[in-house]
Amino acid sequence: MQIIKTAEALLTALAQRKASVGLVPTMGALHQGHLSLIKRAISENTTVVVSIYINPTQFDRKEDLTKYPRTLASDLVLLESLSKDLIIYTPSDETLYPQGIVSKNYDFGSLATHMEGASRPGHFNGVATVVEALFTRVKPHKAYFGEKDFQQLQIINALNLQLNMGIEIIGCPIERTAEGLALSSRNTVLSEEQKKKAAQIYQTLCLLIDTIDTWSVNQMEHFFKTKIEALAGFKVDYFAVAAVTDLVPVKTLEPDLNYRLFAAVFVGNIRLIDTLELVRK
Ligand code: AMP
Repeated sequence: MQIIKTAEALLTALAQRKASVGLVPTMGALHQGHLSLIKRAISENTTVVVSIYINPTQFDRKEDLTKYPRTLASDLVLLESLSKDLIIYTPSDETLYPQGIVSKNYDFGSLATHMEGASRPGHFNGVATVVEALFTRVKPHKAYFGEKDFQQLQIINALNLQLNMGIEIIGCPIERTAEGLALSSRNTVLSEEQKKKAAQIYQTLCLLIDTIDTWSVNQMEHFFKTKIEALAGFKVDYFAVAAVTDLVPVKTLEPDLNYRLFAAVFVGNIRLIDTLELVRK
């Protein structure tokens, strides 16, 4: 029982009791990374919507879209085991793209220019188009995104400011295997051997954290490329150090800014990404 005397406290209490809708957008092939977002959403909302939609406009390579794992039946079993109260939203192309499957054009400035923006032309316009479509249909109070796709997270934050719908964007930490490989739906198409080797992406990023005061960014990049490309079938797409605010890759670090390491690596024709906060010790 709550006994309330002031109007302010009454409004606060009512706001806390008001239904809150949390949205977790996914492309399915669910793993513990997705589930960590959904669990957080369940703990913070009265209603949770999990969307499962493989968004064609964010794929820059047709082969990547056709090969993307589709596991709806087992996804539903996993979600059911988590909570019986979830709303699972699996919209058709026509529902999300009534005008045809094309991206809108957004201006996210430097946030969309480098790293994933440079390697995957049109990717972030596609992501923003589908997220805007989901936001306007679900009208969530909170929406949950993983730091694994850190550049995407910052773009969603920028999109959210542009849309001005009052949604709170929650960034969630990266879930990894015991060896450190960031969980990803794309890992399912890797062999056990490739997965074991791919954990070196994270392990190498961790080693670089200790070099922050002694090595230049060029030295870090050289170390990362040498180490990763020594693994058979591995090719580094990019290695970058960028401040979290503008995501522009830098060669020297300013003392007062927060930076992250970013990497994209091809394992055969599967492309993996990872990122790690560059913490000064
Ligand atoms: P996806 O299905 O790949 O579009 O991912 C849906 C959401 O889950 C995105 O916000 C991702 O950033 C997030 N996500 C994917 N992998 C992980 C992970 N290993 N840890 C935390 N979040 C993740």
